[in-house]
Amino acid sequence: MAEETLTKPANLLPRLRRGLADSVGEALEVVLRLAEEEGRTLYLVGGGVRDVVLRRGHVDIDLVGEGPMASLAEKAALVLGGRWVEHRAFGTVTVEGQDFRLDLAMARAEKYARPGALPKVRPASIDEDLDRRDFTINAMALALCGRERGRLLDRFDGMGDIAGGRVRVLHDRSFIDDATRILRAVRYETRFGFGIEEKTLALLKRDLAYLDTISGARVRHEFLRLLAEDEPEQSLLRCQELGVLAAIHGALRFDDELAAAFRRTRRAGRAAPQPEVHLALLGTRLSPADAEAVALRLALSKRQRQALEGAAALAELVSWLSRADARPSQVVERLESYPLAAVEACGLLAQQSTAKRMLRRYLGKWRYVKTSLDGRALARLGVARGPAMKDVLRLLKAARLDGQASSREEEMKLVRGVLEGTVELPRTGGGEG
Ligand code: ATP
Repeated sequence: MAEETLTKPANLLPRLRRGLADSVGEALEVVLRLAEEEGRTLYLVGGGVRDVVLRRGHVDIDLVGEGPMASLAEKAALVLGGRWVEHRAFGTVTVEGQDFRLDLAMARAEKYARPGALPKVRPASIDEDLDRRDFTINAMALALCGRERGRLLDRFDGMGDIAGGRVRVLHDRSFIDDATRILRAVRYETRFGFGIEEKTLALLKRDLAYLDTISGARVRHEFLRLLAEDEPEQSLLRCQELGVLAAIHGALRFDDELAAAFRRTRRAGRAAPQPEVHLALLGTRLSPADAEAVALRLALSKRQRQALEGAAALAELVSWLSRADARPSQVVERLESYPLAAVEACGLLAQQSTAKRMLRRYLGKWRYVKTSLDGRALARLGVARGPAMKDVLRLLKAARLDGQASSREEEMKLVRGVLEGTVELPRTGGGEG
């Protein structure tokens, strides 16, 4: 790695330019020219510099300059025929057009009044802006215009840590100030194949309890970012090993079997969105009460919560699914009330072949089965609206699933049988245990 990453700063500008789509590169040039006319320097900061050094394809253009950015953004939007949006709370401005987006931020310093609190910010120098960052590899700035153009600000030897493959905090209180950095450290370690540097690792372990100071929404945000990476199971195994999961919630855990199921989610076609399937897989290891507590801790959205809690509840049903004599209609009646992500997670994990087959058939086929006759058609045949009609529809669907009716005519025959009293309706609440 050393050969490749010990890049001379002079090579970074052309490499940055080569890595950008034409539309983004041209927009960037306009912004830089306008900044230069104002006598200002703009820097590429954070992950952008790191990714240029690492030659990673897509680079996010996060620009920082000293002083307010709004008027520069306004001018740039005018020249580029794009629009600009100010996010005042963050001191940032976005300039965007059809095929480009640039984020401009005013350099700022941060002060943490207490652990886990959102920091108090004030306008500051670029150096101070780098001081507030999470890791050395994310704390470099590359001057893109002005007299400094091409100069790399690297106060913490981020280049050395990239070359050595290390994730290292800038100071000993870093995780105390903001314990979301614990999850970020693991994420970068996995993504880049780096190692968390020894002292940083000791600090991380020392400060695990500070995760309690972080709001549910912020833990969730970083946790979902970790799940969205290419190989989240690596990060989760590491989190398990370091005690990070237990620090988020005592019952949360990850193991090799779940890791294998995570890998399978990437191979199999999915019925539910991946983050929900991931959460559901985690849910299979939780009791229903713990799942509820974890969902609360992570302030999950309704769908995410349903996936996690549904999987916890469904895991208890899986032994029933391994009964070889369960009819498709019974399986469908039971599984229908669970979120798809939960069913999918149990299918990915099921060891027992009957249960696995039931879950897969439900996902791939049975859940799509519909009757030919609908409520209106039933009314025309003389079925009264209300609970009775619901029961007839259930009967027809069960007949379809269990192979007792395979056409509209056969469904009509069954309905006539019900009306004449020769066919018995299923009891509401159905499915014998
Ligand atoms: P990714 O490549 O995953 O998008 P990134 O490095 O661009 O990661 P962001 O979360 O987009 O990271 O944040 C941009 C930059 O802001 C980071 O590179 C880092 O310098 C800084 N940053 C983000 N979150 C924190 C934090 N919790 N503490 C300190 N600095 C942070």
